[in-house]
Amino acid sequence: MSKKQTLVVIGNGMVGHNFLENLVASDIKDDYDIVTFCEEQRAAYDRVHLTEFFSGKTAEDLSMVTEGFFEDNNIKIHLGDKAVAIDKARKFVTSAKGVEIDYDKLILATGSYAFVPPVQGHDRENCFVYRTIEDLEALTAAAKNAKVGAVVGGGLLGLEAAKALKDLNLKTNVIQFSPRLMSAQLDGGGAEMLARKIEALDISVLPSKNTQKIVDGTECKHKMMFADGTNLETDIILFSAGIRPRDEIARKSGIEVGARGGVVINDQCVTSDPDIYAIGECAVWKGETFGLVAPGYQMGRTVVADLQGQAASFTGADMSTKLKLNGVDVASIGDAHAKTTGSLVYTYQNGADEIYKSLVVSADKKKLLGAVLVGDASGYGTLSQYYLNSIELPENPDSLILPSRSDESVGLGPDALPDSAQICSCFDVTKGQICSAVENGCHTIPALKDATKAATGCGGCAALLKSVLDCELEKSGFEVNTDICEHFAYTRQDLYNLIMVEKIKTFDDLLEQHGSGHGCEICRQAIGSILASYWNEYVLAQGQLSVQDTNDTFLANMQKDGTYSVVPRMTGGEVTPDGLIAIGQIAKKYKLYTKVTGGQRVDLFGARVDQLPPIWKELIDAGFESGHAYGKSLRTVKSCVGSTWCRFGVDDSVGLAVELENRYKGLRAPHKIKFAVSGCTRECAEAQGKDIGVIATEGGWNLYVCGNGGMKPRHADLFATDLDKETLIKYIDRVLIFYVRTADRLQRTSVWMENMEGGLDYLKSVVIDDKLDICESLEDHMQNVVDTYQCEWKTTIEDEEKLKRFRHFVNSDETDENVVFVEERGQIRPANEDERRHFALVEEA
Ligand SMILES: Cc1cc2nc3c(=O)[nH]c(=O)nc-3n(C[C@H](O)[C@H](O)[C@H](O)COP(=O)(O)OP(=O)(O)OC[C@H]3O[C@@H](n4cnc5c(N)ncnc54)[C@H](O)[C@@H]3O)c2cc1C
Ligand code: SF4
Ligand code: SF4
Repeated sequence: MSKKQTLVVIGNGMVGHNFLENLVASDIKDDYDIVTFCEEQRAAYDRVHLTEFFSGKTAEDLSMVTEGFFEDNNIKIHLGDKAVAIDKARKFVTSAKGVEIDYDKLILATGSYAFVPPVQGHDRENCFVYRTIEDLEALTAAAKNAKVGAVVGGGLLGLEAAKALKDLNLKTNVIQFSPRLMSAQLDGGGAEMLARKIEALDISVLPSKNTQKIVDGTECKHKMMFADGTNLETDIILFSAGIRPRDEIARKSGIEVGARGGVVINDQCVTSDPDIYAIGECAVWKGETFGLVAPGYQMGRTVVADLQGQAASFTGADMSTKLKLNGVDVASIGDAHAKTTGSLVYTYQNGADEIYKSLVVSADKKKLLGAVLVGDASGYGTLSQYYLNSIELPENPDSLILPSRSDESVGLGPDALPDSAQICSCFDVTKGQICSAVENGCHTIPALKDATKAATGCGGCAALLKSVLDCELEKSGFEVNTDICEHFAYTRQDLYNLIMVEKIKTFDDLLEQHGSGHGCEICRQAIGSILASYWNEYVLAQGQLSVQDTNDTFLANMQKDGTYSVVPRMTGGEVTPDGLIAIGQIAKKYKLYTKVTGGQRVDLFGARVDQLPPIWKELIDAGFESGHAYGKSLRTVKSCVGSTWCRFGVDDSVGLAVELENRYKGLRAPHKIKFAVSGCTRECAEAQGKDIGVIATEGGWNLYVCGNGGMKPRHADLFATDLDKETLIKYIDRVLIFYVRTADRLQRTSVWMENMEGGLDYLKSVVIDDKLDICESLEDHMQNVVDTYQCEWKTTIEDEEKLKRFRHFVNSDETDENVVFVEERGQIRPANEDERRHFALVEEA
């Protein structure tokens, strides 16, 4: 039997440890005695999720080491011991504690260190970096006696650290050397938009600041002196100015290092010494270092394959990345700076909502080369798949970044992906591997994670993993997991009940008590809607803002050119001549396009965000209020003229419509709700195509429920006949609150009814027969909504603080010059692309 060889790994960080896991899972495991040196006091932990330490995760929670891993696999780990020298000729490693180990193969996985600019005073007390659990412990201790914090560096990590300082209750500043944030990942437009979002978190961004020295402060512990003559007083300084490869041991031992540092490796990750490999952040491949975990894992897999004698190469890595900040969606994919020759760029910018998206495509517009998403990164999964799998783009690539004008999200369904599509880039898991794991019985996300490791690295693919799982389960006829998302193992209905029973008032409290991680767009908005339905509080209140969807945050509907439309309520479609004149005058004054909507009211288009408050004020002065056209809430109650004017009318449809609209106008729901009331069975108001439809009969009112026009029309079901008004209202109260409590997120009443077990009969048994004994509670809930109604426009214009949001640029009152109108049929409309180009040329000339 041949003698075992010795394999030594220097560094037990994320990459070193992942390498060990791959090695012991391979068929060469028994060929080696394995030894690893770990300079830190604890074995590998998840640095990617380090910030979660602040939200209560312990060092144990972050550990990457499964129980008994080292013992069971006969790996000798030297904890808290740093390897200090390599003797290449005699092939042994020496450690700081004096351990000497002969090796046959040596793997360097020493990672990086946080770079601290050598400015005078950088080593003063309370100056930190952000790399290890110990760093975070020291930071937490110092923050207890501090008021102000400064982060030097506005990259991915710097911003994550800044949010952590903010959450430690420090007045936080980000000091940025270059003029823009995340300059490595974002283009100019994206960076500008990101700065506004960071400022909105109450974190100050100080761009183009070159720190020259740090001295004693007067108000705070330190004073940072900048080259432009300005200064900043702060108690804590956190350096996040980039990372540098830990190549000191290689350098000292005569192993080749790159011009800008890093251990030079070839495609097999072999260094200048054939028996020494380097992987992870300490390695430099073709002049490039990789500051993300996935490329390090790829390098590790390459080394295991090479040791097995298989042909394997490291061929570079996808550096697409997402910022992990609550409420700030930022993602960058591939060639975000459009450096590829001939590449074309599409940009969508919505100054008011602070959304910026750009797509970089090949000259023939067929392939996605890169993308930047700020403010709305929901397309990250889809775009990454186009990018990683070279999937041909749709005919109009800009459709991938323009706002969807339907309620359905535009996406690349899992079925459109080939089996070879890489879903998880950290662990190189393909769609095919996930499908076969599902086929072999992994029917939940945790089971899939265990079996394939997908989504256990940076977690960026979690949403896509879930959609592949759901799709496969559905195809095989299995029941699909109804958890709202990976952060809450509950359905929307469960969450509603939790909020109701435990009287939870904010997203953060719910997350803390019943969720995990930071949350995502899905759970934030779903929970925002539940909180609004249940508590019926002002949607722009402190703590509620980040869970609102785009239109709600500005109490207006964003249109395709980034301007807004304003819809005052006209109950039952009724309006006085004075009201009409006021609307006309306001439209004239602000040069707005006016159109009568399908819901019998007037929509005013083309308002800039800064114009919204004055327009609302003038409308309110003229007796109007918000029409909630932006909310997932009651929109309109359409009516025919009914018995008052129509000779066929059997009852006063307008009167009832006005009463119903006034009753339900404040209700927030999983989706928008429309009503209509017709004065006789001729049905001029089309009530049978509405969520709630009412038709007058000789004997009272017939009630119809769960109808829909829109993309998937559904004829409403006749729910009850010949009702008196009091019973009618009681039934509507109950149906609506039952819908609000039990529907899925973004589910219209029509789909809710279609999916309801027992269908119409069941709904009748709940609402009419009180089968569940909840009717009283349903009515009480609705009465509370009615009693707590407020016009959100009015609340907003009366609050100076809230008004600050209604500016194009957080720091200035300037308006957005990107908004261009042309005239058509006597009114304005947004300029199209050709017209915009024409204006640009005229301006330049
Ligand atoms: C706060 C934070 C957030 C991050 N977020 C993301 C993210 O969202 N996505 C992403 O992909 N990446 C992220 N990263 C980067 C990611 O953590 C790194 O890419 C990854 O940890 C690199 O792994 P590594 O093993 O190469 O280095 P490390 O994890 O740094 O491990 C190297 C280890 O080697 C030890 N060591 C060094 N020299 C010696 C020696 N001579 N002897 C013994 N031991 C030694 C070090 O002490 C360290 O423990 C983040 C990093 C931080 C700090
Ligand atoms: S039907 Fe008309 S208004 Fe409605 S989403 Fe489509 S284009 Fe917009
Ligand atoms: S529905 Fe009947 S009452 Fe109403 S306008 Fe038509 S015909 Fe007249």
